[in-house]
Amino acid sequence: MALIVQKYGGTSVGTPERIQAVADRVIRWVQQGNQVVVVVSAMSGETNRLVGLINAIDPDGSAREKDVILATGEQVTIGLLAMALEKNGQPARSYTGNQARIITDAAHTKARIRNIDDQAIHADLALGRVVVVAGFQGVDSGGNITTLGRGGSDTTGVALAVALRADECQIYTDVDGVYTTDPRVEPKARHIPRLTLEEMLEMASQGSKVLQIRSVEFAYKYDMPIRVLSSFDEVDNAKSTLVTREEEVMEEVMVRGIAFNRDEAQLTIAGVPDQPGVAFRILGPIAEANIEVDMIVQNIGSDGLTDFTFTVNRGDYRRAQKLLQATADAIGAESCEGNTGIAKVSIVGAGMRSHAGVASRMFSALASVGINIHMISTSEIKVSVVVDEKYLELAVRELHAAFGLGDEGGGA
Ligand code: ADP
Ligand code: ASP
Ligand code: MG
Repeated sequence: MALIVQKYGGTSVGTPERIQAVADRVIRWVQQGNQVVVVVSAMSGETNRLVGLINAIDPDGSAREKDVILATGEQVTIGLLAMALEKNGQPARSYTGNQARIITDAAHTKARIRNIDDQAIHADLALGRVVVVAGFQGVDSGGNITTLGRGGSDTTGVALAVALRADECQIYTDVDGVYTTDPRVEPKARHIPRLTLEEMLEMASQGSKVLQIRSVEFAYKYDMPIRVLSSFDEVDNAKSTLVTREEEVMEEVMVRGIAFNRDEAQLTIAGVPDQPGVAFRILGPIAEANIEVDMIVQNIGSDGLTDFTFTVNRGDYRRAQKLLQATADAIGAESCEGNTGIAKVSIVGAGMRSHAGVASRMFSALASVGINIHMISTSEIKVSVVVDEKYLELAVRELHAAFGLGDEGGGA
C-alpha cells in the first residue's frame, strides 16, 4: 500500500463540479489500494478577492489580521471536498493548518513551516479515511494563524509528504507539467518530462510560478520527488513532469528553460561617496526592514563617487524607496531614482556549467530585436537580465527560439 500526497491548486477546485471531479480522482486512487492525503488551495480567484478586501480597509494593516482573513479561502475548500468524498461513500476528514499541527514561525504572510505532527493524520488514514488538509496556512507557537506566501499550498503539499514519509507527492494544476517556459506567454513551449530539483529550484526562484520556490527547497532538502500533472486530464500519468534529484537519466541540454518575473522594481542611488562600508550603509536599512534584495550592481567609481543599483520585489518598492531616500539624505548622495516598469528574464540549465558562451548568445539574441539590458546577474546554472517590462514577452519568445527550446528533440 502506498501513501500518496496530492495537492490541487485553485483552478482544480474552482467550482463545485471541479471539486466533485477531484473527489472522483481521489477515490480512484483509494480504490487502487493507496492511502491518500489531499492538500487543497482556495477556489480560484478567492485569495485575490480576500486581498482586495484587505486593501479596501488598510493595505498597511496588521499582518496578523491579514492572515486571519487570507486563511479562510482554504477552509471552505477542505470542507467542500470532504463533503464531496463522503457523499460518494468515501470516509474523509478535513483539517485546517492548526488541526494538522502545521507549526510555522511567526512571520505573518510569509511564514516558514517548522514542524508537522503526523500522528492524527496517520490515525485517520489507518481508519480508512481520506485526509483533506488546508494548504497555505499554519499556526505559530503562540496559536496565531499564519500563511505561507502566495502559492504556498505547494509547500504544504511537499512538507506534508516529507512529514508523513509519503511514497509520492503529486502536484495537480492546470498544466500537465513543467514546460520550457510559461505556455501562456510562449505557446510553442515544450513539455519537459523530467527535470532536476536543482533546475526547478532555479526556475522557481527566477519566477516560474508553477511551483512555489519553498516547496522545491523542501523537496530538495529532504529528497522528495515531485510529480506535476494536470487535474484536467482524464487519465492519470498520461503526461506529467517528474522533478527529482537524480540527473543521470536526463538528457544534457545547455538551457532547460526560460523563467521570468514581472514582480520586480529597480532602485538607483547616484553620486555616493566611494568609501569602505558604503554598500552596508545603503543596504543595511533595507535588510533590517526585511526587504529582500535580488540583483545588485555597483559601478566603478570616478572622482571619488559611485552609483549603486539594486532590485527588490515590486510589493516592497515604496518602503524601499523611502528608506533609500533617507540614506541618500544622510550621506549626501546626488540623487535617488526608481523604476517599476522593469522585469527579469532568466535562462536556466545545469548544462551551462560545461558550456561557454551561453551568456553572449543570450545577449546577442536580445540585441537582435533591439532590447536593451539594464542589469545582468549570473550563477553556475542561470543567466538573468533586467529589461523594460514592455519587452518581456518578446524577450521570452526570442530566447526560447534562440536556444532551440521549441524544436523537437530538445534544447541547444
Ligand atoms: P495552481 O493554482 O494549480 O497552483 P498556478 O497558477 O500557481 O496553479 O501554476 C500553474 C501555472 O504556472 C500555469 O498555468 C502556467 O501559466 C504557469 N507557469 C509558469 N511557468 C511555467 C512553466 N515553466 N511550466 C508550466 N507552467 C508554468
Ligand atoms: N490560495 C493561495 C494563493 O492563491 C495559496 C495557493 O493557491 O497555493 O496564493
Ligand atoms: Mg500555485
